[in-house]
Amino acid sequence: MTKQRELIISILKQSDRHLTADEIFFLAKLKMPSIAMATIYNNLNAMNEAGLIKRLHIDGVADCFDKIVEPHDHLLCDKCGKISDIQLPSLSDTLEEHIGAEIEDYELTVHYVCPECRRAPRRR
Ligand SMILES: [Zn+2]
Ligand SMILES: [Zn+2]
Repeated sequence: MTKQRELIISILKQSDRHLTADEIFFLAKLKMPSIAMATIYNNLNAMNEAGLIKRLHIDGVADCFDKIVEPHDHLLCDKCGKISDIQLPSLSDTLEEHIGAEIEDYELTVHYVCPECRRAPRRR
């Protein structure tokens, strides 16, 4: 594993959030000032292909990367854009029953307003 790749993995592991490529780039630069954005992108793509990390596509939100590759679902706060992990019982059986065919995979994003945003007065 290259030094750059080790750095990216350690950044993802140390974060309890889902990081965008830009955020990973920013954090990587603190440790390795010479690192280039293209290096970050290339490594993220390669690691996603290799199944080491998971790229997350959520409509209206920048793609981010997940260190958890096991199946899990996501909660998205519509106010602050924070993404949290949730473990729901697998819906595969239910989906297959409805569709009448085997499914390969599914992605579920639940939109809500997170507890912090519900508590905080609206900032504007
Ligand atoms: Zn929120
Ligand atoms: Zn996740």
